[in-house]
Amino acid sequence: MLRHSEFHRSHRIGWLRAAVLGANDGIVSTASLVIGVAVAGASHDTILITGVAGLVSGAMSMAAGEYVSVSSQADTEAADLARERLELATDHDSELKELTGIYVGRGLTPPLAYQVAVQLTEYDALGAHARDELGIIETMNARPVQAALASAATFAVGAALPLFVTLFASETNTVTYVAGMSLAFLASLGALAAKAGGANVWIGTARVAFWGALAMLATAGVGSLFGVTVA
Ligand SMILES: [Zn+2]
Repeated sequence: MLRHSEFHRSHRIGWLRAAVLGANDGIVSTASLVIGVAVAGASHDTILITGVAGLVSGAMSMAAGEYVSVSSQADTEAADLARERLELATDHDSELKELTGIYVGRGLTPPLAYQVAVQLTEYDALGAHARDELGIIETMNARPVQAALASAATFAVGAALPLFVTLFASETNTVTYVAGMSLAFLASLGALAAKAGGANVWIGTARVAFWGALAMLATAGVGSLFGVTVA
């Protein structure tokens, strides 16, 4: 069978988008946390401990959220497939009519649509209905544990970046270094995601950097309020 080597970006976009979002979250939330506490006048050790606690709690909450959402997706898929299996076993004719209708809707002539539906039903009835009626494709098969681990890992990697900067920065320039380096990390991530997705790199970079800067400014504002109150 002839295969032409055509590359579609959507093949890797799902995985990349999740990784970039996770790392983004890690950078923005940890950098903002560190900056807020630093502006409030906390000691270097306190800032570091806060950052590490932010990394761990953020990674755990990402993992928990991802696990719950992907598991419920898996539950929904399994329930849909079980109902479909039952309908195929009890009502073969109207299921065949339904599949034919789907192919007519996609542009096939009714006789050809019927022929395709008959052949695909003979080949793998549940697979054909899952894919063409329910939109459940093999690759989307929910893997909650994998998704949770990937989400926690990308968050932790993102969060580790501003933490490393904090580790090596002195108390006086923690805020400047963490803000500057975190914006650079965010801009590079935004550019990478935009490039990989075939989108405009400048827009992608500006978008991520803008929201990151806004988050850091917000926590610096809160931190300065607390700083004044503490002094
Ligand atoms: Zn069906």
